[in-house]
Amino acid sequence: MALLDGLAARLREIVGAESVITDPAELATYDCDGLTYHRATPGVVVLPDTTEQIAAIVRACAGAGVPYVARGSGTGLSGGALPRTDGVLIVTSRMRRVLEVDAANQRAVVEPGVINLDVTRAARPYGYYFAPDPSSQQVCSIGGNVAENSGGAHCLKYGFTVNHVLACEVVTPDGEIVELTEGPGYDLLGAFVGSEGTLGITTKVTVRLTRLPESVRTLLAGFDSMERAGAAVSAIIADGVVPAAIEMMDALSIEAAEAAVSCGYPPGAGAVLIVELDGPAPEVDVQFERVKELCAEAFELRVAADDVERGLIWRGRKSAFAAVGRISPDYIVQDGVIPRTTLPQVLARIDAISREHGVRVANVFHAGDGNLHPLVLFDGAEAGAGERAEEVSGRILDLCIEHGGSITGEHGVGIDKARHMPRMFTGEDLDTMQMVRCAFDPAGLCNPGKIYPTPRLCGEAPGRRKGVHPLVGSGKADLF
Ligand SMILES: Cc1cc2nc3c(=O)[nH]c(=O)nc-3n(C[C@H](O)[C@H](O)[C@H](O)COP(=O)(O)OP(=O)(O)OC[C@H]3O[C@@H](n4cnc5c(N)ncnc54)[C@H](O)[C@@H]3O)c2cc1C
Repeated sequence: MALLDGLAARLREIVGAESVITDPAELATYDCDGLTYHRATPGVVVLPDTTEQIAAIVRACAGAGVPYVARGSGTGLSGGALPRTDGVLIVTSRMRRVLEVDAANQRAVVEPGVINLDVTRAARPYGYYFAPDPSSQQVCSIGGNVAENSGGAHCLKYGFTVNHVLACEVVTPDGEIVELTEGPGYDLLGAFVGSEGTLGITTKVTVRLTRLPESVRTLLAGFDSMERAGAAVSAIIADGVVPAAIEMMDALSIEAAEAAVSCGYPPGAGAVLIVELDGPAPEVDVQFERVKELCAEAFELRVAADDVERGLIWRGRKSAFAAVGRISPDYIVQDGVIPRTTLPQVLARIDAISREHGVRVANVFHAGDGNLHPLVLFDGAEAGAGERAEEVSGRILDLCIEHGGSITGEHGVGIDKARHMPRMFTGEDLDTMQMVRCAFDPAGLCNPGKIYPTPRLCGEAPGRRKGVHPLVGSGKADLF
């Protein structure tokens, strides 16, 4: 495509020829993120080293009217970093410097491509860590965490990424470099965190550091059923204990984790709970005894004696998504939220949907905050299997909405759940959100096609709808 060829030449001037990829074989490396079911080969990939280069790239794209998508490590599970065949993929993986650890002020300043766990590695010698801990923390980037407002097992107590970001340097869609901070006026930083790469590209992030806890106690409880494990979760929360994490896995996900990492979870368990408490030692000790009492229905309770045993307990859970690859060639990692109290009904319905469609579903949860991760298993080589899995996945999201929950807890909407947005929000709600987007990106070039079902029908201006589009009115087109 001549337009992209011309743009690639300009990008080479900005970042150097070795940092622009146009070779089809190399481009294929970037054709999907963690949502592998959706693929698109990017038109051009560019690997900048600096904020100024990103600003120049964005200006070049804006000048040429070419869409672009930011990508960190590509581990996103909702297709947020799915490239455009007619666009540029801006990959931040070369921007991996921890620029400053300011322990006295409990903050660190990092480039967007820095790996989540590397922030903790840099802060630990000072007695601090970065609290948001997605299970992908060994590989995912801070830029991706900011864009998705990522969570993790310990976000029940410590909050999501948004609670740990103090400022973002951002390249806006017109190529300006701005600083979004907490402070008086509109909370633009709050709007930016979780905007899934649609409001600009973050090039530097100031994160909050959290003091390492004095004491951490972890237990693994094996239950014979999900119902019993779920009842223990409700009892713990009702008792007023706020664990750092409560994670639950069902029999199928235990089987997968066992096959992948031999985590040695209680054999024959219908469900396992991992409960972790942290904080001052005397408080943790008292609460830990109480949690053990509340898990009385467990047929096996294991308490981690040291960090090695703690690591072993967490290994099965942290590897759960990837582990499913051991028991199924393909799978969709779904992410929905329900009120904790509805867990038994929702699980029973997921089971019924799974049987009805003949599609296996493994369940892993951040049980404390009702964040489900159903893993919908299928074999992409089998005709129609992918479509059936998508159908099951969609029905599970409908179930979450029906029970007063949400279509995403932490993985974002991306391309995967855009079609479900109108089931959760009214047309007015969606228009209002799109107006925020238009305020940042009037030309609609920054990660278009994500979050919203159909941006607008062809020929419609961005902004509030002025009435029914003539094509919809005449029955020739549908809005999702
Ligand atoms: C095995 C596994 C386990 C996971 N566990 C969790 C979990 O526990 N909790 C959780 O929340 N998520 C989890 N995830 C999902 C994923 O790791 C997170 O969403 C993560 O934050 C994505 O980071 P990334 O660098 O891979 O981003 P990418 O996938 O590269 O991009 C994600 C989104 O961020 C945008 N983006 C990337 N960089 C920038 C930037 N600099 N500026 C603006 N936008 C940008 C992209 O356009 C895209 O929309 C898991 C994924 C996997 C594969």
